[in-house]
Amino acid sequence: MVINRRIANLMQSEIRNMSIECDKVKGINLSQGICDLPLSNVLSEGVNLALEKGINQYTRYDGIDEIRRAIANKVKHFNGIDADPAKNITVTCGSTGALYSACMALFSPGDEVILFEPFYGYHEYTLLATELVPVYVRLTPPSWEYSIEELEKAVTSRTKAIILNTPANPCGKVFSREELEELGDFCIKHDLIILTDEIYEYITYDDHNHISPATIEKIKDRVVTISGYSKTFSITGWRIGYSIAKEEYANLIGMVSDLVYVCAPAPLQFAVAKAIDTLGDDFYKNLRNEFIDKREIICSVLSDVGLTPYVPQGAYYVLADISKLEGKNSKEKCMWLLEKSGVASVPGESFYNKKGGENIARFCFAKDYAVLKLAAERLRKLFK
Ligand code: PMP
Repeated sequence: MVINRRIANLMQSEIRNMSIECDKVKGINLSQGICDLPLSNVLSEGVNLALEKGINQYTRYDGIDEIRRAIANKVKHFNGIDADPAKNITVTCGSTGALYSACMALFSPGDEVILFEPFYGYHEYTLLATELVPVYVRLTPPSWEYSIEELEKAVTSRTKAIILNTPANPCGKVFSREELEELGDFCIKHDLIILTDEIYEYITYDDHNHISPATIEKIKDRVVTISGYSKTFSITGWRIGYSIAKEEYANLIGMVSDLVYVCAPAPLQFAVAKAIDTLGDDFYKNLRNEFIDKREIICSVLSDVGLTPYVPQGAYYVLADISKLEGKNSKEKCMWLLEKSGVASVPGESFYNKKGGENIARFCFAKDYAVLKLAAERLRKLFK
């Protein structure tokens, strides 16, 4: 029975379903993106200090001064974005809260937003829940290129924005400066806002460098940069994210974020601010190196067993070709793999709107080395 048309088309995520199936067989869960790297001492000490200082109450709707200043400094040096901590930055409940607030704040029901496929499920559902209309444009493997002709075809008089995710979940694409320049011209031509989710900004491989669309001069005023510390600091449960936008947009995003969430958790804002200020280049280098090793472990086993990986350029997921597995579609194939090897992955079709993804699965490699090695052993045994 449909009781609310806003959420009528939303379903339990396939990632959660596969995690439940995985638990049933006590399998190895490579479906969910939980990074369980140890917590840095700076963060735990920061929380203790916040509690000693009695930082327990609501904060300013857009975050405490310390964290907005720390983020402004970080985005200047890492991303190359000039942001005024008093005007442009809104600290939110995760990057998820930032995207939801931006969608509520900047668009009206029925407005269309271009979304690349394969997509991150929350992007699609955030659009649907805020009564926006996703218009899907496909990225083509192996390097997940878009076609500007397809983008042009997707535009109507109702198109208001495009969502970018770089580095991308699930395909690992890192948009190049040339692509962002071209997309920038496209957005100027059609007067579109660019919502860019950069949560994996520190996790890039080979010669793929993270480029923030907001650093492209001609479009900087139409970009809403969204990121957060869930992945970078392995604190997915802390819910610390942010958006950066021109003052007019930031005020609107802040108003919605205040309405829905009031503020991000106060002591955790304080601790994250301390960590941003304290942790040096080594921290980020180690993070990247750890994922370089893990990407190698998972991609080499997938290619050895004939589940050819689309080697990611960034983030910590890999899409692999599962055509050789038994089953009519990606769900059946992933269930077959789980049953035979105990390794859980996410069916590719869950990253597409209609047809698509039948022969791919997503494996997450943000896991302990021991877990990844066990998964590799199980896969090798199954296909030996
Ligand atoms: N964006 C992307 C692309 C993600 O993969 C995830 C986590 N799976 C998030 C956002 C969630 O981020 P947060 O914890 O900051 O809400």
